[in-house]
Amino acid sequence: MNESTSKGVNKFVTLADGTSLPAIGQGTWNISENPNNQTDEIKALQLGVKLGMSLIDTAEMYGHGASELLIGKAIEAIRQDVFLVSKVYPQNASKKGASKACENSLKRLKTDYLDLYLLHWRGSVPLEETVAVMEQLKKAGKIKRWGVSNFDIDDMQELWHLTNGQHCCVNQVLYNLGSRGIEFSLLPWCKQHNVSIMAYCPIAQGGSLTKQLLSNKVVSDLAKTKQCTIMQLLLAWCIRNGQVIAIPKAVNKQHVYENAQAASITLTEQELTLLDREFNPPEHKMPLDIV
Ligand code: NDP
Repeated sequence: MNESTSKGVNKFVTLADGTSLPAIGQGTWNISENPNNQTDEIKALQLGVKLGMSLIDTAEMYGHGASELLIGKAIEAIRQDVFLVSKVYPQNASKKGASKACENSLKRLKTDYLDLYLLHWRGSVPLEETVAVMEQLKKAGKIKRWGVSNFDIDDMQELWHLTNGQHCCVNQVLYNLGSRGIEFSLLPWCKQHNVSIMAYCPIAQGGSLTKQLLSNKVVSDLAKTKQCTIMQLLLAWCIRNGQVIAIPKAVNKQHVYENAQAASITLTEQELTLLDREFNPPEHKMPLDIV
């Protein structure tokens, strides 16, 4: 798989406001840790955008702002081609704190707006205060839309009862074939309420979160049959239903090509059943997985 054979991402997810997003985007946790790798990391992100993975996910937390700084350099000349997502720390998600945090993120990212701003996880700031400041930031043009991350179904239900809480358009949560707990109630609830799921750790951090994904014979045989890698199979599985956007992080150029190409892999009902037998869908409510 190389540049000439790559077709780019060909599956999309539509947000509640009608915005169409590529079903595979790019994560950026743990980039920018080593200054010697910056050039490669910038090139990887730019290549990913070129291949259709135009959604880039970051957070003020990542590298204490270093991830946003690096992305700022990577997208300076292509800002209009990118759907930029950042996240506010829960302790900064207050009226004053979020405005300042957002301004700082915008500076680091060298842009004047975010396409999506997420509350990274729930903290002690009252949810209604965070919703109010998200709405203010939207009005001021600093963010186009907002969402949440690591919210389980009870948090979503609470949010839905707040003024403007229903403007939340994305919930970013951990989801992969080895970690399917959200399928019991959160995923259906989000579908019913038009909240798109953004799957973090979609390839279980290269398999290291769930080692069985790499050693499972059904998974590796199916990848062989589909003429793809296990990671591509995991991504194709993650985005199979049109509701989930996967955001794998990849710096290795080959990984970037492979991830973009994974959007072209479609799994049949029979293949999905095979995978269900190995990695069962949940039969009861499970606690939300978090890293
Ligand atoms: P991922 O599941 O994306 O795994 C990343 C690892 O997989 C890297 O080591 C990468 O290597 C490797 N990899 C990527 N593509 C391939 C491939 N095709 N074949 C083999 N290996 C591959 O884990 P992350 O934890 O990074 O999650 C993704 C993103 O989700 C984060 O980067 C972040 O943006 C977001 N996130 C959000 C959280 C939240 O609380 N909201 C929590 C955690 C993550 P290499 O880089 O060398 O290519």
